[in-house]
Amino acid sequence: MSMPTDLRDLFDLQFQASRRQIDVPLVVRRERLVRLRKLLGEHAPELSVAVEADFGVRSAAVTEMAELSVLRALLSDALRQLPRWTRRRRISTPWYLHPAQAWVQPQPLGVVGVMAPWNYPLLLSLAPVVAAFAAGNRVMLKPSERAPHTAAQLARLAGRFFSPEEFGVATGGVAVATAFAGLPFDHLFFTGSSQTGRRVAQAAAVHLTPTTLELGGKSPCIIDAGCDLHKAAASIAHGKLLNAGQTCVAPDYVLVPRGSEAAFADAFRAAALRLYPRFAGNPDYASVVDAHHHARLQALLQNAAQLGAQVEVIEPADADGSNARLQRQMAPVLVYGVTDGMRLMQEEIFGPVLPVLSYERLDDAIDYVNARPRPLALYWFGDAAGMRDEVLRRTVSGGVTVNGTLLHAAHPGLPFGGVGDSGWGAAHGEAGFRRMSHDKAVLAPARGNPAAQWLRPPYGARFQRISGLLRRWL
Ligand code: NAD
Repeated sequence: MSMPTDLRDLFDLQFQASRRQIDVPLVVRRERLVRLRKLLGEHAPELSVAVEADFGVRSAAVTEMAELSVLRALLSDALRQLPRWTRRRRISTPWYLHPAQAWVQPQPLGVVGVMAPWNYPLLLSLAPVVAAFAAGNRVMLKPSERAPHTAAQLARLAGRFFSPEEFGVATGGVAVATAFAGLPFDHLFFTGSSQTGRRVAQAAAVHLTPTTLELGGKSPCIIDAGCDLHKAAASIAHGKLLNAGQTCVAPDYVLVPRGSEAAFADAFRAAALRLYPRFAGNPDYASVVDAHHHARLQALLQNAAQLGAQVEVIEPADADGSNARLQRQMAPVLVYGVTDGMRLMQEEIFGPVLPVLSYERLDDAIDYVNARPRPLALYWFGDAAGMRDEVLRRTVSGGVTVNGTLLHAAHPGLPFGGVGDSGWGAAHGEAGFRRMSHDKAVLAPARGNPAAQWLRPPYGARFQRISGLLRRWL
């Protein structure tokens, strides 16, 4: 069957199919997941080449490690756990409703819309599809227009491996995205900026479409006094420079104990150059995705410098910047002396720029984080479990990796999502499955169950006796 060219036609096709087949058996869900795994297995090389074409420079190793292998882990986890996730869950019944059985029965929602960003265009397009298929839904995907090669490959392969009633891909720019967000989906799963997320949530609200918003934000690193600065800096350099900082959970800024800024900078510089002995022309070091984002990052730095920040570009001794500009391979930048008035500290950076801030007491660092919008990730580095637990208790973020960066996002069993400005709802594993299912509540009173009779009028002596008991025992 050929793919409908009109967005609304594709939606209608999926919607009708979802209402014809409300119950989607386990074998059907499994088979869709297996087909998705086959698509990845057979076409990973073309997909990886498409991602590289979208970036300019973007190593196939990064696509393999940060996108394809995470997708494979999510698929295996879903295939393994699906029988448990789809089972009805018994809920114990309180005495005043006895005898009865109660359970929760997960059901497919119907048609799920997925809107994806460009930074990990395979993972962020297909991870929600894994959850949606596991939950028995049909899926329409709108990949990002900033990754057009990947979007075209996804559209082509979806058409080869799936019928349009199961999975369809809509490509195009902001006009298509706006129309897409206006469709009356049963659930809309959006990954992107907080700014666009607000618009998408408003469009979805018109149809009372529930949303999951996977947004960004400024994810802090807190370095505890006495922690091994070299280990912390190595981990922060990796988390910050993977994909040239274009990672939603990348460290955005670092808070170090006052007086250790220079030691941290030395350790970060050394770690960055160990990972990437050169930036320009290094096939391991990704480009900034396009001229728009390159100019945005330069403008953030210019604004910070104008307002008094010190900007240090990390360059190997023999650097030649010409190729870097050509490929938009932007060398990492440390920024000191930042203030709240700088755009650098107001917007998510999403590039290889790391402000280094300092704090006097741990309370100051915690207060700094809590005075700002709630971040998608927080990273704490140190050895004292008491300090770690204090930071965990007293800050709110989507997720945390302790003494490391990014890794909590790679665990298929941990819910992945934001809180407040960094989004709502979670993806991955069982959390993703539940997000895309309806948990139907069922109570089945046994024959002769007196509960319903007791509660009916006329409200005479029997009702008074029962409600007296309820008042005493509940
Ligand atoms: P974006 O918000 O510009 O775009 C995301 C999607 O929204 C794209 O598919 C785009 O086509 C669509 N879109 C753009 N304008 C729209 C509009 N006016 N109405 C409706 N849809 C519109 O985000 P981006 O630049 O692609 O991605 C970067 C952002 O995504 C960063 O903020 C990053 O932190 C965030 N992000 C979050 C996660 C996460 O899992 N929480 C993962 C990756 C990226």
